[in-house]
Amino acid sequence: MTKIKAVITNAPDGGVSVKTIDAERSNYKVLLSPIYTGVCGTDRGIVSSSLKFAYNPEGYDYLILGHESICEVLDSKVPEFKAGDLVVPVVRRPGDCVNCRIGRQDNCSDGKKHEAGITGMHGFMQQTFADDPEFLVKVEDKSLKEVGVLTEPLKNVLKAFEVFDTVSKRAVFHGKDSTVLGKNVVVIGTGCEAFLYTMMSRELSFNALMVNRHPLSEKIMKIFGDLGLRFVNYAEEPESQFSAGIDLLIDTSGDPTTVFNFLRKVNYNGVVILFGTNGKAPPGAFTGADIDYIVERNITIAGTVDAAKKHYIQATEYLTKWHALYGEKLENVITEKFPPENTAIFTSRQKDEIKSVIEWK
Ligand code: NAP
Repeated sequence: MTKIKAVITNAPDGGVSVKTIDAERSNYKVLLSPIYTGVCGTDRGIVSSSLKFAYNPEGYDYLILGHESICEVLDSKVPEFKAGDLVVPVVRRPGDCVNCRIGRQDNCSDGKKHEAGITGMHGFMQQTFADDPEFLVKVEDKSLKEVGVLTEPLKNVLKAFEVFDTVSKRAVFHGKDSTVLGKNVVVIGTGCEAFLYTMMSRELSFNALMVNRHPLSEKIMKIFGDLGLRFVNYAEEPESQFSAGIDLLIDTSGDPTTVFNFLRKVNYNGVVILFGTNGKAPPGAFTGADIDYIVERNITIAGTVDAAKKHYIQATEYLTKWHALYGEKLENVITEKFPPENTAIFTSRQKDEIKSVIEWK
């Protein structure tokens, strides 16, 4: 047994804490150590118990947190990996439904998958852990050490665009020139996922705009501005920015009232992607008039969760490209780094936060 430090929650004494635990580390295929682990709304929802779907691994009375990470291989007994490699571990592990059996546990059809740091499997916020090569994505570009932790949240965005590709085929979505140039994406929210959706929308040639109900701090405006991203405070500029309508509406806020206010601006044959799952959504009023609006315009509303291993690989490719283009400007999206002992970061979003991470080395 080896003594390791881990960030645990869901224990009988409640809350979140850093504990030293005994772990078996002699029998492994690949032995890993996290460099950074990201903190997101899901971690905070688990810690506050507002997310009800989290549960401990069988035989444990606690859950080790952590699903966003960039890790270093400490040792490998398989040829695909060697000490010093950078890897991102896959969060969802398959059950045995038809989707899980083809590597699409993101589309699990009976809920029997597990998720590291969330449902029935310990996560990556621990000094060392062992994993199976099947669930590791190698990050070839070593300079991604600083932003590779964004691979996990970005892979969700890539899956969402796969969903968009599928559902937008029900009618002609692109313009006469065969492109989406001039098509408008509005992303509700200004957190990390909203940021990544906006980067990806622009990468795919959409007009992309992030919105929130209040102004952003100078610091966040500078980070977004340096990356050429657009933001509107819709409480102050309610209509003018949206006169051309919205072709793809993406919600990361989880706020039903805001979603349905923006939905009324979605164009014919438009698509709405629902993504927010913070467990704290306030009640909203969805009316018959909303249904008429959706029906008469052939609007498609699609929920999407998690992603497949191929989306992790695509995410590392986009991050490599963006890091080469923007360097430090992209690294600034990691707004703060904390030691594992600073568990206050699990209680609420930090001031001026896009992505807070725990630094393990
Ligand atoms: P986050 O940092 O908490 O971002 C949420 C954003 O929504 C914040 O910028 C927040 O702004 C904004 N917001 C809240 N209410 C709003 C409103 N009425 N109008 C406009 N903006 C509003 O979380 P995240 O990490 O980016 O993740 C976004 C959501 O996706 C979370 O709910 C998370 O749990 C979920 N998620 C889903 C998946 C999936 O696979 N489906 C994966 C990861 C995360 P303020 O901070 O100013 O309130």
